[in-house]
Amino acid sequence: MIKYKTAEEIELMREAALVVSRTLGEIAKVIKPGVTGLQLDKLAEEYIRDQGAVPGFLGLYDFPNTLCISPNEQVVHGFPTDVPYEDGDIVSVDCGAILNGYYGDHAYTFELGDVAPEVRELCKVTKESLYKGIEATNASNRISDIGFAIQQHAEAHGYGVVRELVGHGIGSTMHEDPQIPNYGKRGRGKKIKNGLTIAIEPMINMGTEKIIQHADGWTITTGDGKPSAHFEHDVAVVDGKPVILSTFDYIEEALGIK
Ligand code: MG
Ligand code: MG
Repeated sequence: MIKYKTAEEIELMREAALVVSRTLGEIAKVIKPGVTGLQLDKLAEEYIRDQGAVPGFLGLYDFPNTLCISPNEQVVHGFPTDVPYEDGDIVSVDCGAILNGYYGDHAYTFELGDVAPEVRELCKVTKESLYKGIEATNASNRISDIGFAIQQHAEAHGYGVVRELVGHGIGSTMHEDPQIPNYGKRGRGKKIKNGLTIAIEPMINMGTEKIIQHADGWTITTGDGKPSAHFEHDVAVVDGKPVILSTFDYIEEALGIK
């Protein structure tokens, strides 16, 4: 059952989303070749708690960390490790936080040092496909139109759209109805209505859409070992239109690309 939110609830959710946005902004300041995921994880946990919030992933379904960090061929749900990142890596950082009883959940794929042009293109198109999905999140559409828009854009560039992992409703729990697949046909599912709050999160692979789930129960990699990118925003529907509750501004200011 979809829990539609009031204007007051949406404002509380925006505050929770912005805790995550600012945390990813801090990550953006320090992530570079030589840094490890465990260093980023510690920074993120402290920064979230300093803002009076609680890490949203830590302990959720028994996940052991604050951040999901998924470099290169890892799709999502990777663990922070003590292996330093290398020049040319792309690193997807997914972060959740709880504030005022509401969850924020968003993600960004960072490019470290001298990334191959075709991998930069994957990141660019994945981010674009997120915004295509957000644009489609309006009251003249149905839920499946979001995934349709994402899939059209990603596949037009020859990329694989992961099927097994999807976006989701978000609110006082991390994962609520409805599921938001990153693929689909037009005009299916529920009508998009005011008060819908969802996390839209395309996971786009350079090659095959197929994935491999690893025995640790978390790590997911691409079926062909080629890179995968992941961008995520929290979005509410207000006056029939999408409002992005999270922001990449802190990240992109820190990276000097804003
Ligand atoms: Mg996420
Ligand atoms: Mg999510």
